[in-house]
Amino acid sequence: MSLLQHHQVIIVGAGPGGISVASALQDRGVQDVLIIDEGEVGQSWLDYPKETHLLSESSLKNDDNVIADVSTTEVFPHIGHPSHEVYQKYLAYVVSKRKLAVQTNTKILRVYFDQSNKNFVLEGKEDTFFTCKMLVWAAGMYATPNEQLETEGCFIHYAHMPYMDSITSDEVMVVGSANGASGVVLELAKPGRLVTMVTSHPYEVPHPIDCLWKEQMQFIKDLQNQGLVKIVENFRVKSIYGQEGHYILESEDGQKLHAKKKPIICTGFLPNVEPIKDLVDQKCMDHDTYLELDEFHQSTRQPGLFVAGVIGKFTHDEGMISKFREFGKVIATKVSSQVNS
Ligand SMILES: Cc1cc2nc3c(=O)[nH]c(=O)nc-3n(C[C@H](O)[C@H](O)[C@H](O)COP(=O)(O)OP(=O)(O)OC[C@H]3O[C@@H](n4cnc5c(N)ncnc54)[C@H](O)[C@@H]3O)c2cc1C
Repeated sequence: MSLLQHHQVIIVGAGPGGISVASALQDRGVQDVLIIDEGEVGQSWLDYPKETHLLSESSLKNDDNVIADVSTTEVFPHIGHPSHEVYQKYLAYVVSKRKLAVQTNTKILRVYFDQSNKNFVLEGKEDTFFTCKMLVWAAGMYATPNEQLETEGCFIHYAHMPYMDSITSDEVMVVGSANGASGVVLELAKPGRLVTMVTSHPYEVPHPIDCLWKEQMQFIKDLQNQGLVKIVENFRVKSIYGQEGHYILESEDGQKLHAKKKPIICTGFLPNVEPIKDLVDQKCMDHDTYLELDEFHQSTRQPGLFVAGVIGKFTHDEGMISKFREFGKVIATKVSSQVNS
């Protein structure tokens, strides 16, 4: 027997992006909203590597991590950069304080739009179906690497880094230079080890520094000056293969680098949109994939489908919690006007 639930609005993803939209909808009086998550509330934060602390600040003066107008100090007073577990507790607290409806442990496998009933149909496991008038997709993006490299035997860096503890070598090569790669380099660099960072662009710290993770670039430059990090610029890796116990990295223009141990590939991630891929257009710009959205973060291909959180960003620098708060309100305003029309 199939199980069917209908809701006016369904939000897939109970991370800071999805919760920001849900609370903004609540503030606008929109009824019958359900958040669905394949895991728990804030599941990504439960899964992040054990040493992860928020890079963005929660100080008394400035709280970049607050969502839904619920002060973080209600959960973690005076911790500037809380751990991932503490932040997950905060997200769960926000959901319970706001009394947001969440269905956990429910993975959405496929979504389509039923033209006859003007509903989105969401297919879960074991004949579970949901339908809704408006859909907000907030399923995050740190799971699928963005490069289809020939990467024989390499570590692929996801948000989860279970392999980190197994790295004992005194030479490590990291491919990539953005947020993920910076985190890996900072974690691995230490006296007695040389970390080589291979980047496809020149590695220039912007002045003034224009977003939080770029502060990490400055730390990496400092480590370079101390001889703990080497930066290879303008090398876009095309393939990696093993040769006589070593690894060879070949660039698009035929240059070669040698690595003693398995390189770590951290070149970025694809938006987690597989179940909605037929309802949203994607474009690739300089190896980064963006979704085609209007100014309300609505799919230009399928009206009524909104994208929130880190995959609803328009630029790199909008992938932060402080931005989700802003575009959560934009999405909620548009959804509430449609629901009430
Ligand atoms: C290691 C790390 C550290 C970060 N630190 C910071 C920081 O300090 N400050 C900051 O502002 N940003 C930070 N970010 C970036 C970003 O803010 C976070 O990744 C944030 O969690 C993204 O929020 P989100 O709601 O878009 O996605 P997520 O938090 O990833 O939430 C998506 C949710 O969707 C669920 N889901 C996915 N697919 C399905 C499906 N098919 N069906 C049902 N549910 C599904 C998942 O279980 C998950 O709970 C960090 C990112 C990483 C990877």
